Amino acid sequence: MKPYCTVVLLLVLLLGCGTGSRVVRLETGRTDTLVFTPRSTAEPVEVDDVEFEESMAKLAQDARLPSRPQEAARQLFEVDARSGSYTYEIRGSHLTPLGPGEHLAGGSTAAEVELTRAYLRWCERTGRPGDCLRLLMESSIVNGDGRFALAMALAKGVVLDEMLEAFKDMADPHAMVAAVPWTWTTYMVLLSIPDVTVSKGLAAVMTATLISYVGVDTFWGLIVGFKRLMEDADRATTFDELRKAGERYGKVMGQNAARAFAMLTMAAIGNTAPGLAAKVPKLPGSIQAAAQAETQVGIRLVALGEVQTVAVSAENLTLTLAPGAVAMTSDARGPRRFSKADRDAAYDKSQDTTGRARCEYCDEELVRESGQSKSYEADHRKPYIKGGSSSAENLAPSCRACNREKGAREVDVDWVPPKER
Ligand SMILES: [Zn+2]
Repeated sequence: MKPYCTVVLLLVLLLGCGTGSRVVRLETGRTDTLVFTPRSTAEPVEVDDVEFEESMAKLAQDARLPSRPQEAARQLFEVDARSGSYTYEIRGSHLTPLGPGEHLAGGSTAAEVELTRAYLRWCERTGRPGDCLRLLMESSIVNGDGRFALAMALAKGVVLDEMLEAFKDMADPHAMVAAVPWTWTTYMVLLSIPDVTVSKGLAAVMTATLISYVGVDTFWGLIVGFKRLMEDADRATTFDELRKAGERYGKVMGQNAARAFAMLTMAAIGNTAPGLAAKVPKLPGSIQAAAQAETQVGIRLVALGEVQTVAVSAENLTLTLAPGAVAMTSDARGPRRFSKADRDAAYDKSQDTTGRARCEYCDEELVRESGQSKSYEADHRKPYIKGGSSSAENLAPSCRACNREKGAREVDVDWVPPKER
């Protein structure tokens, strides 16, 4: 038997596991770069199975089904065609695709052939006979990106089944399902290039939206995890090893991130950057994602379509917005403090029939001297950090105690005022 040859990607895990130290930089070309430290407590937005399936079915109706999903994914992200093998230069930190027809190993090995057979058996077993993930359209064996796509499909497990359920009324549900791992994999390969700048609008919008959904820390975890997955998938000699690599990644990702990622991928297929940005507000969880867009990348969800490039390095994430988009950043809320006129007017308005100013949240009498628990303070009814403006309509006359307790929470959303308890 000839010695087994494989490409080993010596990927350095450039992105450490620490949290909180990374920053997001926003460049708009007009003002100084805004440097933003995301809150490290962000969690992937929750999307339940029913919402997920409904949303996927709707997105699939609008999507043009690619007959060659790998090729379509490459075109979507403007990634060059390649044979599916890479060399990795440690010194230059470059991931270099080999040219078409170039192979590191001569021909396919027995292990590769067996892995391919195991993949076909897996398709059969899961009720999708044949080349269910369209891995064998450019090669007779599962290799290169095909291994990553297969590992990604295995990583998604349950989510893959949910997709099949969502697409069941479509002409070719399996082809639709196959398009997702390919699109996803091609996108992740692109993001995993060290110090990459994603300049294709669609990929940039997808990145900013993904971060809004999952938070910066999980996003970084997805990249680090994917590098590990590439390394493991390339080393894998059996289907089981590939499955283990996929399942490990599935754990890193978690179900909510997997669903968010699948929805975004589906919305991106055959789409343009503005088209994708227009679909985002209609996705389940988009309200929470909008709040997180501000705390994680410092921009409003409606500005996601203005994201032109995203640069990912070990230390930070740099988003470039269209020059006119400066008004779309969080600063569009205006100043953090209310004007003196508004503060005074709100104080006067809070007075009861006996002329005593009252806290909107607990009805306690307010005092104008500062530094006491009953001191009058102007609270943002919808918190500033969540996009609430500093205009009179958003000003709640509050005592200091209530204002401190409420913090960045919202009445009837995640905070109940004392007078209603
Ligand atoms: Zn109060």
